[in-house]
Amino acid sequence: MKENSAQRHILIVDNDTRIVAEMVRALSLRDHLQIHTCTNGADALQALQQNTFDLIIADWHVPQVDGITLIRHAQERSAETVTVLMSHYSIAEAQSLSATPVAHHYLTKPFAMDDLISVIDSIFPAITNHSPKVAHVLKVVLGGDANVGKTSLIQRYCTGLFDPTRAMTIGVDFHLYDLEIEQEPLRLVVWDLGGQERFSFARQAFYRGTQAVGLVFDASNRTSFYNLMRWWRETREYLPGVPVLMLANKIDLPRQISTEEAQQIAQAWNIQLFESSCATGDGVNEFFHALAQSAWEHLHALTATK
Ligand code: GDP
Ligand code: MG
Repeated sequence: MKENSAQRHILIVDNDTRIVAEMVRALSLRDHLQIHTCTNGADALQALQQNTFDLIIADWHVPQVDGITLIRHAQERSAETVTVLMSHYSIAEAQSLSATPVAHHYLTKPFAMDDLISVIDSIFPAITNHSPKVAHVLKVVLGGDANVGKTSLIQRYCTGLFDPTRAMTIGVDFHLYDLEIEQEPLRLVVWDLGGQERFSFARQAFYRGTQAVGLVFDASNRTSFYNLMRWWRETREYLPGVPVLMLANKIDLPRQISTEEAQQIAQAWNIQLFESSCATGDGVNEFFHALAQSAWEHLHALTATK
């Protein structure tokens, strides 16, 4: 998982998706953070078994496996993992309820995002300073069925690498990419909603404040193309007026969906079609640049009408 030694990997666990989305938004202005989120304890446990995190921030009362158990698991896996426990209890109440101190830091809910930032900055003092170069943060979301290649696309775009053995995404991942459009330094934050496909209502909070959406299907898999309709309806419901791009991925494999067939649907929805392969790298940069450009134009249109 560690593709860059300066990166710090953070796992956030809370079933309150609004709080998770707010925390991610606050942290996306910090540098060098790779944020991963889970909204239940079972997913978090699986993520902890697959990866070593530098920091885990867990709510005490998450469904299936509670935050204290998760923190203990993280500490057993690596003694270096810094732990933060969140709950509605005050520190005194928390101490009286749990015999031994379990976490390095404690956040009493509701907390201000500045409190979260202070904790993060105290844990990683040298690396996470606010990046003054960035003028705007663009939030884009990737939707589409599991296995269509969303995580691989982000990896390919951010690192130029393709790892065919990568483990499946559990929960929601976030990736930062700094770029310039029209000489403006921008930070693209890509939200990969992949691991949340089971429940569309759980995704609602993650859509807030999105400036562009990429809907990805696997050109070698007809079902993933048919299911794009559900993703399309969902984005129209939660993000009316936000630009959407369609992406046919895995074009290196034998195709079940031709360009012409995909183009017909894209035209019916009045959106642009792109094609890519993470294996060869074809079309990946073009897609993300178009996504960033659409997000930038949407942000402009919003600020112009205010
Ligand atoms: P996600 O669930 O949408 O995030 O999909 P992943 O990125 O995890 O990819 C699912 C599987 O498809 C993995 O085995 C990838 O290696 C593979 N994959 C992703 N993109 C491509 C591609 O463009 N070509 C080929 N041949 N395989 C791909
Ligand atoms: Mg994924």
